[in-house]
Amino acid sequence: MRLRNLTRRLEIGANSYLFESADGYRFVIDAGMHPKAEGRQAMPDFDSVPADSVDSILLSHAHHDHLGSLPLLQRAHPNTPVFMTEFTGEVSDAMLHNSVNVMSKQREEAGLGEMPFFTHREVESLRRLWTYVELKRAFELPDSDIECRFHDAGHIVGSTGIQITEKGKSLLYTGDVNFESQTICLPADFPKKGIDVLIMETTRGDYQRPAGYSRRLEKERLGKVIRETYERGGSVLIPVFALGKTQEVMVMLHELYLNDLIPEMPLFIGGLSTKITVLHDKYCGSTRRNYPSFMLLDDIDILVPSSGRRRREIVNQPKCIFALSSGMMSEKTTSNGFAQTFLDNPRNTIAFVGYTDPDSPGYKVRHAKPGQQVVLDADKPPVTVNARVESFDFSAHAPREDLLDYAVKLKPKKIVLVHGDEPAQLWFEGQFKTQLPTTEVIRPFPGTWFDLW
Ligand SMILES: [Zn+2]
Ligand SMILES: [Zn+2]
Repeated sequence: MRLRNLTRRLEIGANSYLFESADGYRFVIDAGMHPKAEGRQAMPDFDSVPADSVDSILLSHAHHDHLGSLPLLQRAHPNTPVFMTEFTGEVSDAMLHNSVNVMSKQREEAGLGEMPFFTHREVESLRRLWTYVELKRAFELPDSDIECRFHDAGHIVGSTGIQITEKGKSLLYTGDVNFESQTICLPADFPKKGIDVLIMETTRGDYQRPAGYSRRLEKERLGKVIRETYERGGSVLIPVFALGKTQEVMVMLHELYLNDLIPEMPLFIGGLSTKITVLHDKYCGSTRRNYPSFMLLDDIDILVPSSGRRRREIVNQPKCIFALSSGMMSEKTTSNGFAQTFLDNPRNTIAFVGYTDPDSPGYKVRHAKPGQQVVLDADKPPVTVNARVESFDFSAHAPREDLLDYAVKLKPKKIVLVHGDEPAQLWFEGQFKTQLPTTEVIRPFPGTWFDLW
């Protein structure tokens, strides 16, 4: 079995990995889209994979950096079956349709001629090749002796690590993983032994968590900031990803409200977030999670969802909470547009709850000094940041110590480092050198084949 990294650089980027067995069976895990790169550079290096040569495709979860280019991969391999959990499939459908809308908007506003890369009609036609598989159930990739198994990755609902077994050898691709309980998500449920090759994400490899951190204290600190903002007569904007972080934040706010840690304040979420929350509710009894019978849209008293069908403008008003996507406040997204008239009000607070890329508008706001001007959108005038700016650590990715601990206990023969920037990967490489001296550590430079067994 060998592996080629189809991601264009060693970074988080557009995740996609090609595998080939000794007898020539080929499968791809994940087909992401780069969140920032433009045009074809945003896609994995699919041009290097001959058309109609992939036998199976597997999807770990429905975030854009793992899913966004699936329609292009399926177009090049039109009869190839795709395997994923049911929840991931249903969410992927909503995410990809939204992606067509975003790309069309970019085409109109920024004149990016090759957008959209795919159409609504094409997205609709993909599903006939999708097969849903339950967690933990062994299944065979068609026409092969390769066995496959999805394990809950604890990152977002429906997210998985993927185990591949062939000729008595096993590999585990972690996907994005969290070994801690979040609000809705339970900790990852990964195999503890019998893995020869571990292909692991390294997102937080260069981040050291402050001593004394606990999720509960972090949540209470968020509650305090919201309360203080309310008492000043202001509102709170929380930029979030529509999938995962929105639902985590919704339940967290609900808990804070029930515990009297925040006052009754309407909570507004956007259209795509509402659609994805509907799916969380629809599958609440059949996905592995905390709050298995909790219906977010019905049971959260302070919630004001924006209707999926009739597009309602979310209006800036005092004493409210706005949890709007995207999490990095990328141009042309709801949180970016909303912030244009929000940040100059000193009564307001903007609260970051996840990762912001250094090139993103969210990062600029997060690191702005009070009164500093920030360009959120190149087509609009700069905005003065008078609002209070706060950051919280509610990451959906495992802290580096947890990943290290898992890998060291698992003792695989080989470890392949993916989904991380260079400093993050180098930290893990250094740790494994001393803690797992007989394990081969691979940084899979794109374009090269690496033997796994
Ligand atoms: Zn993810
Ligand atoms: Zn990811």
